[in-house]
Amino acid sequence: MRASRVTPAFVAAYLKEIGVEFVPSVSAEVARVIAGRLRGAGPNGGASDVAASPESPVSDAGVAPPATDSTLEALRAEALGCRRCPLREGAKQVVFGVGNPRARLMFIGEGPGADEDEQGEPFVGAAGKRLNTWIPRLGLAREDVYIANIVKCRPPGNRAPVPEEGTVCVPWLIRQIGIIQPEMICLLGATALRFLLGGEPKITRERGQWREYKGIPVLPTYHPAYILRDPRREDEVFQDMETLKGRLDAR
Ligand code: SF4
Repeated sequence: MRASRVTPAFVAAYLKEIGVEFVPSVSAEVARVIAGRLRGAGPNGGASDVAASPESPVSDAGVAPPATDSTLEALRAEALGCRRCPLREGAKQVVFGVGNPRARLMFIGEGPGADEDEQGEPFVGAAGKRLNTWIPRLGLAREDVYIANIVKCRPPGNRAPVPEEGTVCVPWLIRQIGIIQPEMICLLGATALRFLLGGEPKITRERGQWREYKGIPVLPTYHPAYILRDPRREDEVFQDMETLKGRLDAR
C-alpha cells in the first residue's frame, strides 16, 4: 500500500471493517498513523510521534459497531485476542473489564496501569482501591457495578491514550455498553469524557453535570488517581456519588 493512497476515507473503511460502522470524521493525521499500522510499521506504529490534540478528538458519537456477539463473555474472548493497535505490543494482556454483566451502573476510566496490566482487571491498584471506597456511597458493592476503560491495553508509562489508540479501541467499549445496557454511566476523568463523548472537556468544569450517551445518562467525575494526587477534591466526588445515588434510587 502506498502512502499516497492512504486517505481518511480509506481509514474510515478500515474502521468499518473492524466494527465501526460510521465515523463522522477521520483526520489526516489519524489516517496516517493507522495506515502505518496497516503497512506493518515498527513497534510504535508511528503513534509515538503523534500527540493528542484538540484538532483530532476521538468521539464515538455516531459510531455504532455491530454486536456480532450477544454475550459479554463472547466479546471478552474476542477482545483478549485483539492486536489492532501498538498498545498491545507493550502490554502483558488485554484488560477487558470486570463486574456484573447486568449492572445498573458502569464506571469507565482511562486505561490499565501497571497493577491492572499484571492482574488483567481494571482498577485494582491504588486508584482502584480509592474507587472501591466510593462505590458503597451508592449503596452498591464493587460486584454490583461494571468497570471498564477507554483503552484495554496499558499505555506505556501510564500516559493518556492518543487519539488513534482510542479510535481503534473504543468500539470494544461501545459493544460492552451495548450488551450491559446500564441505566447510568459514571465517567472517571477527562480522558474518559473526551473519548466517549468527544470535544476537549475540562473535568473541573464538567464533573457533576449530567450528559447523555445514546440515551443513557452519563455523569463525569474525577479519576481516582487524580484524587490520590489532590485529596482536597474528593468532597466533589462525594457530591457526584450522591447525585448518582439519587438518580439510581429514583428509578
Ligand atoms: S488497546 Fe484496544 S485496540 Fe489496542 S490492542 Fe489493546 S484491545 Fe486492541
